[in-house]
Amino acid sequence: MSDGCFICDKHNGVIDTAGVKIFENELVYVGHIDKGDRPSYLGHIMIDLKRHALGLGDLTIEEANAFGQIMARVSRAVKETEHAEHIYALVSGNSVAHLHMHIVPRYPNTPEEYWGPNEVYSWVDAPFGMNEDIIKVCERVRNYLEENVHEEF
Ligand SMILES: [Zn+2]
Repeated sequence: MSDGCFICDKHNGVIDTAGVKIFENELVYVGHIDKGDRPSYLGHIMIDLKRHALGLGDLTIEEANAFGQIMARVSRAVKETEHAEHIYALVSGNSVAHLHMHIVPRYPNTPEEYWGPNEVYSWVDAPFGMNEDIIKVCERVRNYLEENVHEEF
């Protein structure tokens, strides 16, 4: 835990974010991105490390195993439930120094000039939504994960 860290505060329930929790265990936390007053790109999911550590190189082997598994499971869930045709994944850390991975779906018919984890946002027909839409996405992904909890990788 670290004082004043947005992600630690979120895990500790100090602040609320859009949608509902998708998954949590002792090592990782999964939720939807929250753009505050602005609409969010639907299906843009954040996988956070529970421990306050900066980047991928700071993962323990146990954390890396958990992180890799949930990346695969969430990506599959978003493809199945949201009908994404591809999943982008990105670790930046420019704004919050606590490891979190962006899982960004690309939806069918996205023009090629908008292909990329940031670029998809600029497509005029990209699906954006406010809290009630985000909750529905979270519930579909969460249900898929729960129904496929024993899936082998
Ligand atoms: Zn933190």
